[in-house]
Amino acid sequence: MDSSPETHDHHTSTDPLVTRLTAHGVHGVALTWVDNAGLTRVKTVPLARLADAAERGVGMSPVFDIYLIDDSLTSSRHTGGPDGDLRLVPDLDRLTALAAQPGWAWAPVDRFDQRGGRYPGCQRHFARRMTDRAAEHGLLLRMGFETEWVVTRDGTPAATGPAYGMTRMVELSAYTDDLLTALAAQGLDVTQLHPEYAPGQFEVSVAPTDPVGAADEAVLVRETVRAVSLAHGLTPAFGPAVTPGAVGNGRHLHLSLWEGERNLCADGDGPFGMTGRAESFLAGILTDLPALLAVGAPSPASHLRLEPSRWAGAFQCWGLENREAALRFITGAPDDPAAANAEVKCFDPAANPYLVVGSVIAAGLAALDSGAALPEPVAGDPVHQDQPRLPTSVPQSLDLFLRSAVLREAMGDELFEAFAAVRAAEAQLFAAHSPEELAAATRERY
Ligand code: GLU
Ligand code: MG
Repeated sequence: MDSSPETHDHHTSTDPLVTRLTAHGVHGVALTWVDNAGLTRVKTVPLARLADAAERGVGMSPVFDIYLIDDSLTSSRHTGGPDGDLRLVPDLDRLTALAAQPGWAWAPVDRFDQRGGRYPGCQRHFARRMTDRAAEHGLLLRMGFETEWVVTRDGTPAATGPAYGMTRMVELSAYTDDLLTALAAQGLDVTQLHPEYAPGQFEVSVAPTDPVGAADEAVLVRETVRAVSLAHGLTPAFGPAVTPGAVGNGRHLHLSLWEGERNLCADGDGPFGMTGRAESFLAGILTDLPALLAVGAPSPASHLRLEPSRWAGAFQCWGLENREAALRFITGAPDDPAAANAEVKCFDPAANPYLVVGSVIAAGLAALDSGAALPEPVAGDPVHQDQPRLPTSVPQSLDLFLRSAVLREAMGDELFEAFAAVRAAEAQLFAAHSPEELAAATRERY
């Protein structure tokens, strides 16, 4: 079967999966997708209905595509109103028994219309279409998201030790142990877990994989962190801004480009060893970053985080291992060309990870064969070097997004307009909020 069917016609037998999950004590399967507000929404089915869900899908209204973070609704040209139904079809290749939620398994869904056709608003399918488009250019992408969060207990940080301090690992030793155990049991290849800069903040990163897989894993990692936290009487805050005026949570995207076994970010003639194709792809991302920001830092709360001197990448520039540049190039060790990659630092956890990977690929591909070169890299703090600041509000980034022919074409009108409507409505929703009110309304919502 084609990896990207335009209609839904699964014939995979679920019997072996059901047998395996039954042996794991699974009774129910959570079927998730991420909406345009960046929230993971769900329908669940008892395990006995999994075969039916895989065959026919589970009904769900398309109206969630115009839901905001507070569960109020907006509308857009193609999407909205009480009518219509979609079918949520689980991707059985990603079916995972949830280690921190005994009795439950999880699978991400693709969304189809009632006749089995692709639903144009499906964010996961957008990510896959862009991945396929890259493959048509001979490119494979490897991607991975970093997950940052603040662990709180009764509204205050649950670990008081210093940034990157071992104290925090001792304070929350059992919690972090359970977390590593759960992530590993779910087949996630964790590369690092560490205490981050902000009080009570931690970060976990997973090994790179294909773009849709990276977005799926971002969902699975977050929900695993949430489940382990709650089991320990802790609450995770995944919002971009936890405390206004302080370092927030990023969700940086790492990416590398490959032709077969060859990493195009290494062993080339371009800056710091990247190849010409990688340079042009990254130049496309850098050029479009102000518009991409509407996708990757989509909430008004994103702009409480995206400030200079917080390693959030507030400037539209790039540099070698420069943590203040929005695009950070990493060569890795000289004897490990596979490790070379680029990191988009300005993105945060309010973003829909499927839209992030799809949009970044679209921007990169738009410049791929143009011969576009990167500008001079920036070393040192860009704040002192007259570098352009990325947009500082949602209305600013949304305006650039709406003018992006590349992103409109890539997403298609239906997804593009529904997404833009949610951005505009959230900007409106929070327009009169103080920074404290905005952080409070968003930090534990994602
Ligand atoms: N927490 C920072 C952010 O908001 C990132 C720190 C780091 O470089 O990992 O993106
Ligand atoms: Mg970090």
